Amino acid sequence: MPPLEPGLLDGFAMFDGVDAEARRAVLAAATRRDLREGETLLREASSNEHMYLVIKGELGVFLAGTGKEPVATLGNGETVGEMSLLDGSPASASVIAATPCKLLAVDERAFWELIESSHAFAIKLLVKLTGRLRANNATVSQSVILRRRYERAAMFDGLTGIHNRRWLDETLHRLVRRVEGADRGWLSLALIDIDHFKGFNDTYGHEAGDHVLTVVAQVLARNLRPTDLVARFGGEEFVILFPDTDLEHALIAGERVRSAVEREVLTLDERALPGVTISMGVAQLASGQTVPELLKAADTAMYEAKHAGRNRVVAAK
Ligand code: GH3
Ligand code: MG
Ligand code: MG
Repeated sequence: MPPLEPGLLDGFAMFDGVDAEARRAVLAAATRRDLREGETLLREASSNEHMYLVIKGELGVFLAGTGKEPVATLGNGETVGEMSLLDGSPASASVIAATPCKLLAVDERAFWELIESSHAFAIKLLVKLTGRLRANNATVSQSVILRRRYERAAMFDGLTGIHNRRWLDETLHRLVRRVEGADRGWLSLALIDIDHFKGFNDTYGHEAGDHVLTVVAQVLARNLRPTDLVARFGGEEFVILFPDTDLEHALIAGERVRSAVEREVLTLDERALPGVTISMGVAQLASGQTVPELLKAADTAMYEAKHAGRNRVVAAK
């Protein structure tokens, strides 16, 4: 078997900052392990004596009782198995090759020598372990990277890529508490609804409708200041949060956004689509007002914009 190239560890986040000598020692002790598609690397609740580094291919992480879909996948540059080396516990999930895989296996002794010789590696392990403790679900967070993906999915809208309702609810409550706690400062909010969107879907199809939602989300995000926040509220409705902004300035920003949406030229697969417009209600948080009351005020103003002919921005009373 040819010796392992020194550059092999370059793509591994766990090895960032690990010096050349420690890397050489790991590679000298490591063995190659190839897996066929479908082959099992780790079995849930069975003992494990290696840390595995994924050089090529994809591994699926499976939990008993959660069905046929993997709860996570591990790709190039990711590592698995180190947690059971640390605490001597059995594997917390089954890991099965989703594609043919090339792995490096580092045994327990080389693993502990690496911890002793490299602060950088020890810190990476601490970070990973902390992440796992925090996430409260030991298995989904087997890799820090996986946990981030999971959190991302929980906070972002799958279609438009901007934040979702759940994120908005959390953020809005936090911002309202901040304004209340400071006993001063401002917070304004805009509720946006696309005009005649049902008709658009009926005429041009749901796929074109989905495309419009994505484009509108991008136009909103592009036309805001870096401190403003935007989320998909649901269906064809969006919310913008304007921290430290009074009603007057939120209305100016809202009008800029409304006009940008109106001017946006839409196409899908080189087919021209008609433009869309939005109606917007803007409210400033009043003293003692709750989050539902603030949303309601913006919603009422948005309906006034609809009744007044749509494609306009209306301030809450
Ligand atoms: P108005 O100007 O009064 O808002 O009219 P409207 O047709 O936009 O209002 P309505 O609430 O009747 O319709 C909202 C439509 O938005 C219903 C549905 O067809 C569409 N819609 C909601 N969510 C989605 C989505 O995720 N994708 C697509 N393509 N359409 C959606
Ligand atoms: Mg609507
Ligand atoms: Mg609508």
